[in-house]
Amino acid sequence: MKKWGYTYKEALKRLFGKPYTIHYPFTDIKAFEGYRGKISLNVNKCTGCSLCFRVCPASAIEMVPDERVKPAKRRPHFKLADCCYCALCAEYCPTGAIKLTTDYHLYGFDKRDVSAEVKSE
Ligand code: SF4
Ligand code: SF4
Repeated sequence: MKKWGYTYKEALKRLFGKPYTIHYPFTDIKAFEGYRGKISLNVNKCTGCSLCFRVCPASAIEMVPDERVKPAKRRPHFKLADCCYCALCAEYCPTGAIKLTTDYHLYGFDKRDVSAEVKSE
């Protein structure tokens, strides 16, 4: 009987108290420093050496032509749905063009919607 008393008390407390869960996506939680989330590529730093492509254990990188640069050079395209976020590509990149950000919002209706951030700065 004592157990039921405890259960009811807890149920009432939870009914009127602050919930443990958050109202995602309307409320957000910041990922901790060092979290390995969405990949960011700085195309200006990329030399097209393909080292990231070679070390990727999940075959999540394809080298594709970058039409924005003349003459066109190759740059990595990340298939984030296949990525295991090991960060080897970032570790081996000789120019520091790849970073893993703390952005964990990796969702979409199609796995191709989940893509890396490509910037040129
Ligand atoms: S390792 Fe770095 S420089 Fe080489 S292709 Fe990949 S991103 Fe570009
Ligand atoms: S984090 Fe790892 S699995 Fe993902 S693209 Fe880079 S090397 Fe490949």
